[in-house]
Amino acid sequence: MTVNPALQRSLQTLADSILDTLVHRIGKDAQAALPHDWLAATILTVRNDIVERWMASTKAAHAAGAKRVYYLSLEFLIGRLLRDAVTNLQRSGEVSRALALHGVDLAALEEIEPDAALGNGGLGRLAACFMESMASLALPAYGYGIRYVNGMFRQRIDDGWQVEMPESWLAHGNPWEFERRESAYFIGFGGEVIATDSGQVHWSPAEAVEAMAVDTPVVGWRGEHVNTLRLWTARAFDPIKLDRFNAGDFSGALADQLRAETLTRVLYPNDSTAAGQELRLRQEYFFSSASIQDIVRRHIQYFGDIRTLPDKAAIQLNDTHPAVSVAELMRLLIDHHEFAFDEAWKITRATFGYTNHTLLPEALESWPLPLFERLLPRHMQIVYAINARLLREARGVTGIDDRAIAAISLIDEGGERRVRMANLAFAGSHSVNGVAALHTQLMKKTVFADLHRLYPTRINNKTNGITPRRWLQQCNPGLTTLIRDAIGDGFLDDAERLIDLDVFADDSAFRERFWAVKRSNKVALANHIKDSMGLRIDPDALFDVQIKRIHEYKRQLLNIIETVALYDQIRSHPERDWTPRVKLFAGKAASSYHNAKLVIKLANDVARRINSDPSVGGLLKVAFLPNYNVSLAEQIIPAADLSEQISTAGLEASGTGNMKFAMNGALTIGTLDGANIEIKDRVGDDNIFIFGMTADEVEVKRASGYDPRSVIDGSNELCQAVSAIASGVFSPDDRQRYAGLMGGLYEGDWFMLAADFDSYATAQRSVDTRWNDRDAWVASTVRNVARVGWFSSDRTIREYARDIWTVM
Ligand SMILES: *Cc1c(COP(=O)(O)O)cnc(C)c1O
Repeated sequence: MTVNPALQRSLQTLADSILDTLVHRIGKDAQAALPHDWLAATILTVRNDIVERWMASTKAAHAAGAKRVYYLSLEFLIGRLLRDAVTNLQRSGEVSRALALHGVDLAALEEIEPDAALGNGGLGRLAACFMESMASLALPAYGYGIRYVNGMFRQRIDDGWQVEMPESWLAHGNPWEFERRESAYFIGFGGEVIATDSGQVHWSPAEAVEAMAVDTPVVGWRGEHVNTLRLWTARAFDPIKLDRFNAGDFSGALADQLRAETLTRVLYPNDSTAAGQELRLRQEYFFSSASIQDIVRRHIQYFGDIRTLPDKAAIQLNDTHPAVSVAELMRLLIDHHEFAFDEAWKITRATFGYTNHTLLPEALESWPLPLFERLLPRHMQIVYAINARLLREARGVTGIDDRAIAAISLIDEGGERRVRMANLAFAGSHSVNGVAALHTQLMKKTVFADLHRLYPTRINNKTNGITPRRWLQQCNPGLTTLIRDAIGDGFLDDAERLIDLDVFADDSAFRERFWAVKRSNKVALANHIKDSMGLRIDPDALFDVQIKRIHEYKRQLLNIIETVALYDQIRSHPERDWTPRVKLFAGKAASSYHNAKLVIKLANDVARRINSDPSVGGLLKVAFLPNYNVSLAEQIIPAADLSEQISTAGLEASGTGNMKFAMNGALTIGTLDGANIEIKDRVGDDNIFIFGMTADEVEVKRASGYDPRSVIDGSNELCQAVSAIASGVFSPDDRQRYAGLMGGLYEGDWFMLAADFDSYATAQRSVDTRWNDRDAWVASTVRNVARVGWFSSDRTIREYARDIWTVM
């Protein structure tokens, strides 16, 4: 091979600077360096390139006097960053060859980078996709969150049970981040509020910590724009009390620092229920206050007059976790900038937008009023003032009666009084959006029905999206190359150009290549499963995948019970032409969520039994892959044939896993829930497997008295599978283990798994039929990839930018 000498020189230059970084920043030579040292040296070298673009982006936004977007989120499920950065900079080949000159493999370094998991699931991943899209669209934006020392726990599976282990993603340091010691803010808690003679109000907190900014650059596609993810970390003002130390009270001397550090120590599991801990509310206020202070400070520095804040800043609240920001901005405007309430309220509402993520009543955040008042006495007064104004306004509207007033109020008066964060966020924002068409429609009908009557233009829809850089280009290079060869590069800048691929569904040579790419992704996953779990799976079997947080509404149990029913069928009818299937599960359960953890154990018990039963002849294999996170998703999704999106209709706000799978050529089996509906509208009824009740049907059935027992008794397959599980067939070591879980189906079945079972099983058999017509299957998968470009988060962000933030 002839090598271009100029290229050779530039590779050598890059290789030299990586080595130089290794020696001078890490303090090791090439012989002593461990893989993590090479990783750090590579990141620090690449980072130099990013920093220059970053400063240029910031300067350009400043010079243009541009309006900035502030995305406030208690969660950012970022994943690894090296591959993301080098592909977006379009330097993968170059970095890889430069490292090769040192005998170092870039792909291997990428694999040892810790997965930054500062989030629980979809909500946090959405924030990460949005950050990448905002940078790719060159929209000046900041993400604000918390730099948790311990993010999402690492899941170990011990004898089938989930065990939560701390994940120390910062163990080797974090070469991506920049500490900004000068960007620090005073955050107070507790104390009292004193009215001065002049009518001003003074809050004197009983305790305080300092919030310090830690910045991570977010590189957009093609590296043209770089934004900032600013995460706050807590410190004590007085890290050590020397007098106490010298008096021999060593731990007392360090108590303040310990207390401060505790604040940003752990991410709360918040997928099922709002964590009731005071620490959670402290975290919310800590990060909200620091972010709002930073935004106000920047605005005044750049533009002088705080009155123009809504023209220059759009603050988006990702769910209600940052909702106290509304009260915090009011406090700063009234107490520090001496605005009258009405004018402060006008500025506040014009600045905030709020995104709702769930209709599950148990996940709607509210705080006991005494706790809120004790921790944030000044904010409590402001919440009362906002509420008085809100309820005055509501009183004047026809059709709003006492019941509606009680529902609109920021204070829940039924039982122990509580502060409703969703109502605060709604009242304090000019836009309130849902995350898929059905979800937005249900918001208007259910949780926010009365607020919607009061403000009928405020609720709008912004269907979620995913970044095609991470979720196609980076995780599936084989498919990316194939698409490029077929339709050119355009889809890399505009995912909707994927539609040009549609005609290739009818091209048999293309289908062959498409199939070969999928197969090689499946071989890679099969190897990973063999190496990590010792389980052999057949890459020619249908890979049927359900990976997401474990939650009853997502109905992993429906999938497991159908698996058991299929197992029975295969054994009873060995003469039939069964489709070889591999059922793959992965996901974490909130540590306090008993039933979800039991579902994990059941998946593992069922897997053990089926995988070791010679009578299924390898036609069915089941695996639960431990420690689901972004990196594992990036490995599994490109290898999936079937995507399980089977939540009870009306309960999944949107889902984004569904989009990732479709974009990687898996067909969806799903209910008419969340964004599944919009996926179906785009890919077409023939290219998706829809089953089960609609959200309306679920509502009607609930209202008319659902009787799961008669449904279960009326379905042979279901009844046998449930009985087998209940009687301990899969848990011979503890026959009662699943009696309660199965009993719950007979007694209530809130998630209506029984009602949807037969329809689901039938849909699974039509999956088999389609699978066995290889041409039809592959044509459908090609059509899925071609038609889901609309689910790019670039499209979602353009809609937010146009309709909510007015920045594009
Ligand atoms: C996409 C993603 C999710 C969300 O998945 P859903 O199927 O939409 O619930 C959760 N966790 C990770 C790691 C993801 O990548």
